[in-house]
Amino acid sequence: MSIIIQLPKSVANQIAAGEVIQRPSSIIKELIENSIDANSKNIKVIIKDAGKQSVTVIDDGVGMTKEDALKCFGRHSTSKLSKTEDLFKIKTMGFRGEALASIAAVSEIILKTKVESEKIGQQVVLRDSKIVEQKEISFQNGTSINAKNLFYNIPARRNFLKSNNLEIKYIIDEFIRCAIANPKISFSLINEEAEMYNFKSSNLKKRIISVFKKNYEKNLIECEEKYGAITINGFVGKPENTKKTRGEQFIYVNNRFIKSPYLNHAIINSYEGMIEEKKFPFYVLFVSINTDLIDVNIHPTKTEIKFEDEKLIYNLVKSTVKKSLEKFNISPSINFNADINFKENISFQIGSNENKIIQNNYSNKKKDWEKIFENVKVENSDKMLFENTSSIDNENKPVQFLENFIFKQVGEKLLIFNHKYCQQRILYEKFKNSNIKSFTNTQQNLFPQYIEFNQSDFKIIQEIIDDIKSIGFDIDFFGKNSVVVNGIPNGLDDINEKEMIESFVEEIKNNHSDIKSENRDLIIKSFSKKAKIVNNKSLSQVEMNLIIDRLFACKNSKYSPDGKQNYIELGIDKVENLF
Ligand code: ADP
Ligand code: MG
Repeated sequence: MSIIIQLPKSVANQIAAGEVIQRPSSIIKELIENSIDANSKNIKVIIKDAGKQSVTVIDDGVGMTKEDALKCFGRHSTSKLSKTEDLFKIKTMGFRGEALASIAAVSEIILKTKVESEKIGQQVVLRDSKIVEQKEISFQNGTSINAKNLFYNIPARRNFLKSNNLEIKYIIDEFIRCAIANPKISFSLINEEAEMYNFKSSNLKKRIISVFKKNYEKNLIECEEKYGAITINGFVGKPENTKKTRGEQFIYVNNRFIKSPYLNHAIINSYEGMIEEKKFPFYVLFVSINTDLIDVNIHPTKTEIKFEDEKLIYNLVKSTVKKSLEKFNISPSINFNADINFKENISFQIGSNENKIIQNNYSNKKKDWEKIFENVKVENSDKMLFENTSSIDNENKPVQFLENFIFKQVGEKLLIFNHKYCQQRILYEKFKNSNIKSFTNTQQNLFPQYIEFNQSDFKIIQEIIDDIKSIGFDIDFFGKNSVVVNGIPNGLDDINEKEMIESFVEEIKNNHSDIKSENRDLIIKSFSKKAKIVNNKSLSQVEMNLIIDRLFACKNSKYSPDGKQNYIELGIDKVENLF
């Protein structure tokens, strides 16, 4: 006796529908995508009871003829794909002909539609995936699809829906993803008869500003790159505007929103050394790629994507973002003379015998970095009042304030430096660029230091010992689970070898990525936070000027390795406002 039965069509439909339609937001995503594919200029979404009671999407797109209006709810009914080869050339949002069939399997539907070439519109009503009514109606060009009583026929699934607040949040997420990707289309969202969003047709930048807050205008850095058939464009947020929570990260491939931890990693990675750990920058990035090189067909909800060459895309995204961040940062454009002592083998020592060299170098360089500020526009016209005082500039002396801060007038601006962050940045770049094999910067210890580790920490030491050596530590294994430190990087003030090496191990332990090349960076970051070039108790003029010079010789002078601002600028207008 056979025990295998064929599932009734209605059950099979419901199972298939469950893959595409999990909640009201999935209906909204599918209907909006259909409206986008139909070349709509305006898309209006109306929800009731968080979409559980009713979802309506109204568009002014191409509409459907009577014949298509009757056909479109059939499984695998699509106007967008006709042969297998087309699967690999998908340009529309939809292509499987599954969405409407799935929505009709889990809700009651009223479709109203009209094509421009016809005088009269069509209305089709469905229940349990069956057409129960069809009539002619008068209707504007376009389509309106109303899906009611979601999961009325599958109570178990209905019970799985979350609270209204959460379901509305999911709806807003989908709505915003679509709105960002299609700035030319006007979008509105109406919840219980109140308008939540109304985005007018515009460009990407303006759309981002209207979706997020007005203050995003100042936060956006444009990215645009073309590599052969691949283009990457969009906006990323400035490093200082990162957030502790995720939610403002958007990657699209061929205008389709995707979730890609891999590409997310590429973007975060390009902020290396500029943002704090566990903080997330804002980004909206669009990757356009030849459809031969991707496969969007791997998941019915289509937020996953497979690239033929993942590594290539990773590197392209990373370098595009990096380039834009560098362009935004003022420091790389500073044209320092190549003779900056910092760049070459000069040690960090600020002992008295070196003061002369430093002073000479200082007077040469000072003019160069002051030039940066020459072109900074001062908006307040009252600057005329201060014109006479600008001759003080040349002899302008830095002033130390509360140990950690340095005040210095540069041009018509007052710069306030955070000494600690500046030192961290200088050390970070110094060691980041240092030659892995060079030990010229090591200063031998009078007494070797022995450090013992537990077994698991010692495993980490084995992994990173070469990286530690590469920044100037003379360190070697010594017996079981121990190391000996014979020398430390040159010219640093007060190093506690044991604390330092232990902090490296801690840093590696807390980092959950397995990417080995990041180890060295983590070590340098941890090192630059602990080491000091000079102690900030009492800084001499020479030391302060040197710190400022070295800071501006850095590739990224604006931020500490953790993304803290190294200095702030106060223009005349800001200072005047204080009174
Ligand atoms: P797909 O989008 O994958 O083709 P759907 O089930 O979402 O599958 O839609 C089926 C078909 O119904 C579409 O291919 C299209 O021809 C038609 N259609 C759906 N929504 C609209 C709309 N808003 N305007 C015009 N045609 C539509
Ligand atoms: Mg579709």
